[in-house]
Amino acid sequence: MEVKTFEGGAHIPHYKSYTEDKPITRLSPPKEVIIPLLQHMGAPCEPLVKEGDKVQIGQKIGDSEEKFSAPVHASISGTVKEVGKRTVPTGGEDDCIVIEADDGPQEFEMKQIRDPENVDLEEYRKCVREGGLTGMGGAALPTHVQVLYNDKVDTLLLNGAECEPFLTCDHRIMLEKAEQLVKGAELMMKSIGAKRTLFGIEVNKPDAIEAVKELIKDRDDMEVVSLAVKYPQGFKSHLIKAATGRDVPRGARSAELGCIVRNVGTTVASYEACIYGKPLIERVLTVSGPKVTKPGNYIVRIGTPVGHILNECGVEDIENHKVVLGGPMTGLAQPHLDVPIIKSTTGVIVLPPEMTREWMEYTDCVRCDKCVEHCPMMLYPNQISIYAEAKMYDPAEEWDLMDCIECGICSYVCPAARPIVHWVQRAKPEIQKRQRSRK
Ligand code: SF4
Ligand code: SF4
Repeated sequence: MEVKTFEGGAHIPHYKSYTEDKPITRLSPPKEVIIPLLQHMGAPCEPLVKEGDKVQIGQKIGDSEEKFSAPVHASISGTVKEVGKRTVPTGGEDDCIVIEADDGPQEFEMKQIRDPENVDLEEYRKCVREGGLTGMGGAALPTHVQVLYNDKVDTLLLNGAECEPFLTCDHRIMLEKAEQLVKGAELMMKSIGAKRTLFGIEVNKPDAIEAVKELIKDRDDMEVVSLAVKYPQGFKSHLIKAATGRDVPRGARSAELGCIVRNVGTTVASYEACIYGKPLIERVLTVSGPKVTKPGNYIVRIGTPVGHILNECGVEDIENHKVVLGGPMTGLAQPHLDVPIIKSTTGVIVLPPEMTREWMEYTDCVRCDKCVEHCPMMLYPNQISIYAEAKMYDPAEEWDLMDCIECGICSYVCPAARPIVHWVQRAKPEIQKRQRSRK
């Protein structure tokens, strides 16, 4: 079997054995959901409901007239308790709709409303938009603007790499929903106007590779690309390079290189929005960590507070753990457990002190060059970190800080425990301001 990859990157512990064999199961609905009006890159939604309104599961409760936006929907039936500021998982506070559950049925009825073999592509695009689909693998771009016909694109590349430690939800989706994935890929491929679909899957998921291969064995427009197990294999430019051999110059858009990349979960959810009329009201995510009593891959409603999830799954000694939403390399540690999960939340990972680095004191750079050796963007994280820490943004920009994809490898390998990504994240808005003022 040919195994493809990119230059650079790092081999890091997977910690996937906690959940990779756990079939997807449904978590009980919470008593209350908190639905942020901005869960994607782009314009926020305006609320379509007010305090005291009754809402039904799947009802659209927020939308925007801006093109680069995606509506939000009620993930439980109940009463709107509040429209106001709440802590959101992306940091700080933002506008949210809080819904209190009623005693009625809390399941969305999956009734087929379209024949998958005979779908009008305009209708498909409309369903993706109205269903509030956004990227579910981390980068939460509104999906409807990404399934438009594009005559420059020849390849749909489905991202099943799932290279971050602990996360296994995409693995289980590919294994358990392989048929919907392939049918969803077919719709997406036609909608974009691509000629072929590649499924990029890391070789540590052999059962998922086999499941997809079996379904596409008679097709010459679909192929599984086996990828080496390496971080950050699932980042867009590295995935394109590995799967197609095409170089992605810094700052270039993948469509300019003839390739559109979509997450496997998004592909299945887009299919369900079209064939069953199901909006994006829930998602599969991984709950994991050494002290989680019932780690697994769970279907969780959008807006579910993290505290409800961890109550259901159980965690020993939670006070001494850090709770991260997303993977441990790129996810964000949360200040408390009332924070809700959103459409792009891939995992709830509970890390003990020995697995986190921020509890260590960092020191000056010892010039070991480990970060340079491993940076997948071929940057000099050591130089960047020195300037970014000192808030010297002009030289930081000259050392290409803006090209950093925030993968976290440099911080991971650094013996001086330098929080390089933290400084990069602080520096980026400042450099953007300077770049705007120069125009
Ligand atoms: S500098 Fe950026 S891209 Fe390079 S390793 Fe660090 S976080 Fe990743
Ligand atoms: S890994 Fe850390 S100590 Fe080594 S060169 Fe990079 S920043 Fe300096």
